[in-house]
Amino acid sequence: MTPATGISIIEAGALISPNEVLVRLLVVEDDRGIQEFLKRALLEAGYQVDVAANAKSAETLAAEGIHDAMIVDLGLPDLDGLDLIARMRSQGNSAPVLILSARRSVDERVRGLERGGDDYLTKPFAFAELLARVRNMLRRATPTQAESLKLRVADLELDLARREARRAGETLQLTPQEFSLLEYLVRNAGRVVTRTMILDHVWRMRIDPATNVVDVHIYRLRSKVDRDGARPLIHTIRGVGYVLKEV
Ligand code: CA
Repeated sequence: MTPATGISIIEAGALISPNEVLVRLLVVEDDRGIQEFLKRALLEAGYQVDVAANAKSAETLAAEGIHDAMIVDLGLPDLDGLDLIARMRSQGNSAPVLILSARRSVDERVRGLERGGDDYLTKPFAFAELLARVRNMLRRATPTQAESLKLRVADLELDLARREARRAGETLQLTPQEFSLLEYLVRNAGRVVTRTMILDHVWRMRIDPATNVVDVHIYRLRSKVDRDGARPLIHTIRGVGYVLKEV
C-alpha cells in the first residue's frame, strides 16, 4: 500500500506536548509499511500511538487498559485478528476497535462486527477515511469519557478526541499544528506563555528562539479564532509572549 497523498510526515512525536492528556491508540498490524505509515500519520494527527506487530504483544499492551481505541489487522502472524478481539473482549477490554482487513466480503465484515469489532475498513484504504472512522468511534465512546476530552474557554471549545475546535458553535478549520498551539494556549488560559515555552511544548524541538515561526502561527491562528466581530481571546504581551483569556 502506498501512503495516501496529501499527508506530510513529520518526525514522530514532534507535535506531542508533554504533560498533556492525549488520546492513545493501539495499532495492531504486522505489515511494516502500513504499521510505520499509520504510526506517523496518527501521530501527526495528534494522537499517541502504540504499535504491536502480533497478537501476543497486542494482548500485553491492551491489558494495560490505557487505550482509547484500537485498530486491528485481521491477518496477524500468530493469531487471527478476530480471535484476538474476542480474547480482549473476554478480558473485559471495551475500547472501540476498528478492524482493518483485506477480506472484503459482506460475510467477513458481518463476522468482524459480530465478533466484537466496532467498525470495519478494507485495505487498501485512504488515511482520511481511517481517521474519520477513528474519530467517530471515539465520539461514540461513553459521554463522560467524551466530555472529559473537552476544554472550554468562553465560547471556544476544543474536542481533544476529534482534534476539533469550535468558536460559538462553529467549527474552525485548523491544521494539526494550529490545533496543538491552540490547545497549549487553552491549557494555560490566563497565563502568559513565552515564545520559548511554545517552541518547547508545541514544536518540541530546539529552534533558534529568534525564529518567527511562533508569531507566524499565532497570526494564522488568530485570524481563525478571533475573527471579525468575535471578542478577541488571543492577546499579545509585547516583548514577552502570548496569553489566551477572556477580557
Ligand atoms: Ca497482516
